Amino acid sequence: MKIEAKYDVIIAGGGLSGLSLAWYLAKGNYKGEVLVTDSTFAPTNDKTWCFWSNKEPPFRDVIYKKWKKTWVSVLDYSTFRYLNEYSYYCIRSGDFREYVLRELKKHKNFDLLEDNILDFSSNQSKAVMLTKGGDSYIANYIFQSIMKPKDLDRSQIKYPLIQHFLGWEIKTYEPAFDPETFTIMDFDNEFEPGVGFMYVLPYTQSKALLEFTVFSEDVLKKKKYKKKIKHYLLHELGLDKDHYEIRRKEYGEIPMEDRPHVPYYDKNIINLGSVGGQTKPSTGYTFTRIQDYTQKLAQNLIQGFEPLPPQQSKLKYRYYDLLLLHILSNSTNDSLRVFRSLFKKNNFDDIFRFLGEDTNLRQDLKIMSSVPYIPFFKAIWKNL
Ligand SMILES: Cc1cc2nc3c(=O)[nH]c(=O)nc-3n(C[C@H](O)[C@H](O)[C@H](O)COP(=O)(O)OP(=O)(O)OC[C@H]3O[C@@H](n4cnc5c(N)ncnc54)[C@H](O)[C@@H]3O)c2cc1C
Repeated sequence: MKIEAKYDVIIAGGGLSGLSLAWYLAKGNYKGEVLVTDSTFAPTNDKTWCFWSNKEPPFRDVIYKKWKKTWVSVLDYSTFRYLNEYSYYCIRSGDFREYVLRELKKHKNFDLLEDNILDFSSNQSKAVMLTKGGDSYIANYIFQSIMKPKDLDRSQIKYPLIQHFLGWEIKTYEPAFDPETFTIMDFDNEFEPGVGFMYVLPYTQSKALLEFTVFSEDVLKKKKYKKKIKHYLLHELGLDKDHYEIRRKEYGEIPMEDRPHVPYYDKNIINLGSVGGQTKPSTGYTFTRIQDYTQKLAQNLIQGFEPLPPQQSKLKYRYYDLLLLHILSNSTNDSLRVFRSLFKKNNFDDIFRFLGEDTNLRQDLKIMSSVPYIPFFKAIWKNL
């Protein structure tokens, strides 16, 4: 027999955004009936989420590692830099999932459903989720993080960039890392097309995640990322394959495109997370934006209001993103020069504040005046 169950809220997709929303609702004592659905709730550490914060970080209990010092290298500029006001944190997706599910199971008004979601539909007053088993679930609102927005007009995207990366979590047989210093960007100055760099998260002296990351329109063949990681291990850290073992691999593609804002999938169905366009286009960082939005959304629902759709960034930040996307899409050399000046002439607290969209005009001008102006003039000309 086909089920037809009714809820106040359905959260379709139990990844970062879906479970963050569920967490804030549960912790805020939301009284409505909630269904959280995912194809599987198995807690796999397939994603390592990092973010910076100058406040009490979210999900403090499952923070895997925190850093206050970073290494950056671009063209002829390489240096250690300290973070003062901000810290850089990482959370593993499996730890996060396990932690949130443990909390949800304490709340009788939260149901968990493991099933594949096939489709959604809605009318003026209700939204419906259809699963592979043929069951339908009805709710006042569905918050979905699994399907790309239906009305997304891809022809409006000017810079279809992707941040793509392959990472190896390795264990070395001898101490090889400084666990206090993460490498935010160690650029491969010869890489083309696009911008390529190594990102290194050292957890202990002998355990680290190393990711070869690229900003470009097309992903690489897997063997190309592997070759880059091996090369880095050998030439930067002096580690050949007899000095380490690979414990885990992590692959990701994060959209960095300047896509149109599409907050609704359909009437009463709101887009969340990556498919909801919550990634900051010029950086690929999404974690903090998801937290900010799901926290506000949960408060809204708890207070009995209509759900607040995701808001766009302020116009000035969208414009800055567009300029940077233009440079990243058009010239590797200009991109490297911009990163070089950005890192050389600013402290990391100011850079994080700017990328976190928390600056005033004076702070914006300080950052803007620190980078070479010709690439930006070209970008402005093309994006008037
Ligand atoms: C490997 C990786 C690392 C990242 N690292 C960072 C980082 O360091 N910092 C940062 O800010 N951002 C990072 N991101 C970007 C972003 O924060 C993550 O992608 C984040 O997981 C997005 O959350 P989400 O809820 O949109 O999607 P997800 O977390 O992917 O959640 C979607 C959920 O929907 C489920 N699902 C999908 N289809 C169906 C279906 N048909 N039926 C049922 N369930 C379904 C999936 O199983 C999944 O659990 C990373 C992305 C990747 C891929």
